[in-house]
Amino acid sequence: MITNRCNLSCSYCVLENSSAQKKLELSLEEKKEMISHLYHKMKFRRLTLSGGEVSIIGKKPPRDFIELLNYIRQFRSDSPQENLEIEIYTNGIYINNEVVQAMSGVVDMVAMTIDSKSSNILNEIGRKYKGIEDYYSHIVHLSKNLTDNNIIFKLHSVISQKNHLTLPQEVKQIVENITNYNGKISCWKFFQYMSYDSPEKDNIHAISSDNFEMFTKKTRDILNGYNIKLHFKTNQEMNASLFNILSYGNAQYMRSSDTWSTSQRTKDLRTYNSMEELFANHDINEKLFREFHEIIR
Ligand code: SF4
Repeated sequence: MITNRCNLSCSYCVLENSSAQKKLELSLEEKKEMISHLYHKMKFRRLTLSGGEVSIIGKKPPRDFIELLNYIRQFRSDSPQENLEIEIYTNGIYINNEVVQAMSGVVDMVAMTIDSKSSNILNEIGRKYKGIEDYYSHIVHLSKNLTDNNIIFKLHSVISQKNHLTLPQEVKQIVENITNYNGKISCWKFFQYMSYDSPEKDNIHAISSDNFEMFTKKTRDILNGYNIKLHFKTNQEMNASLFNILSYGNAQYMRSSDTWSTSQRTKDLRTYNSMEELFANHDINEKLFREFHEIIR
């Protein structure tokens, strides 16, 4: 999570973006140092860059983000053992042609969130931006641009009270809109809204496991035969897989007994010389970590 800044304010977001937290954010040079450290010392071969909004770093976004992408190019390789795979999560607002060109050859996959095709629901959630009249169409257009540049396009949806009944009726049309626009969806990941221990947010968004299961069944049936990899991520999977490198350099993880507010923090990852050292100093469940994050070739 390279920054806590964002230009949207989705009502289900957990973003911790007080000015005190923003001040702790690593500078561009420190972000580069972190990536180099993760690659050389900790032997990372896959990174997901997210935020906040990943493209909003530095004074004139997306300039520093483009510089970061150019820096990452050195970790790309034809050899799978040496290559650093890069996935980006973005809300798409600043993703213009220049950014897509900078991503080309550096970024394997870009994920964008569509919770609904209805402007009313998107506006209600907070997925709206003053410069963009129709957020849904903006993402549909970007899907083509990314596909044309050989970047794998992935969809995300947060499943909450706002859309768990309506989204199954829309998924077919979303796929068709994107396909008609010559975009290609490789994978669609549906996240069960996760509680951040905020009763106000939970009242508006939380859905039961039964409702998520019903959503899963319906959506799976409707999208059957579309050649899209589907992933339905329950709260249990979210907690077990959580390993977020925060914008100030330490990582957040959860033990099985933790909720969001008791989640654990490591020190700045640049202070560990190997994953072994990290595991030795924290009660991270190594077996689960490997299950979710290790690359098996
Ligand atoms: S776009 Fe993402 S980071 Fe920004 S407010 Fe929405 S959920 Fe949060």
